[in-house]
Amino acid sequence: MEEKKHTNLDQQGYWMKIKTSAQSVFEGMAVTLAYFFSKPVTVEYPDRTAIPVNDSLPERYRGFLEVDMDICTACKACERECPIDCIEIDVQKINDVRSMTRFDIDLGKCMYCGICVEACPTDAKAPGDQEQTKCIRFTREFEAATEQFPSLTFRFIRPGDYIVPSKPTKGGEYVDTSRRGNIARDVRQKAKEYNALAVQWGFDQGLDSSKKSALDDIINQEKTISRAEELAPMVSGIEQNSQKLEDLLYDQALAQTDCEACGWPSCRAYATAMIEGKDSELHKCEPGGAQATRDTTLILNIRKGKAPKMAAEESIDWVKKHHNE
Ligand code: SF4
Ligand code: SF4
Ligand code: SF4
Repeated sequence: MEEKKHTNLDQQGYWMKIKTSAQSVFEGMAVTLAYFFSKPVTVEYPDRTAIPVNDSLPERYRGFLEVDMDICTACKACERECPIDCIEIDVQKINDVRSMTRFDIDLGKCMYCGICVEACPTDAKAPGDQEQTKCIRFTREFEAATEQFPSLTFRFIRPGDYIVPSKPTKGGEYVDTSRRGNIARDVRQKAKEYNALAVQWGFDQGLDSSKKSALDDIINQEKTISRAEELAPMVSGIEQNSQKLEDLLYDQALAQTDCEACGWPSCRAYATAMIEGKDSELHKCEPGGAQATRDTTLILNIRKGKAPKMAAEESIDWVKKHHNE
């Protein structure tokens, strides 16, 4: 008798459990069902926002970096200051004109610290911005998803092409620049195409040895003597006119960016200091690098009356001592 009562209770508990489970499933489904008939609170990215997402971000947002090549002076301050070497700028003389052949930023490596932007001396104003900006600046572009990691290297000069740098502005002047973000979008679009070209260009140049071979070229005895012979008639043409000597150093040797990296307020101030013997360190033009050192030492040595061959030998020693890392 005792045993029968126990079995009835068990059966009751069994049916109760089924009822409770079914009830909770229906309650849960009812909540879900209600969402089919209510207005959604979420929006679909990226095309159903009232304004583009980028435009909704604050002006100081740190998205992709971009560089306005129309106002860049190739002073290389950004490249020098980047603590993790994300920026690569190559400058060389093409048809006797100082030209930029490369301006790359590896945004896959960049930590968005902003040191390069702080270092850039070119102040600019972009339409729509409240604050001043620089030639190199952050944008509100952020969509970096990619299947090809190298396409995060933004190349602001098409591999194989070159750009003549802009002249520096006078202190306190702002230059007009394009709307923030336009350049970054364009370069991002071209990244894949430019990467293929860059790889081919790298093979043509001898890959990583290109910088070393540029230095080898500068200290090559024959080439340095030939550069000395080219400069000799220009030096003798200026006679005793120190203004013309300053012009020659400015035109033929220094980088003309007025970046102050040499410790003087302008290229002309550095040239005058060297001519007057106030600065005997002839290798301080950082944007001009080894080439500036070679041409400065050649001009000043020839000016002292040294023959091109001897001037070239001394110049090579100077470059080796200060640029052969
Ligand atoms: S933001 Fe910082 S890490 Fe990125 S390129 Fe500029 S200096 Fe280098
Ligand atoms: S002007 Fe600005 S962006 Fe151009 S090289 Fe100099 S620091 Fe870099
Ligand atoms: S000479 Fe001085 S100011 Fe002129 S580019 Fe070279 S480092 Fe800059």
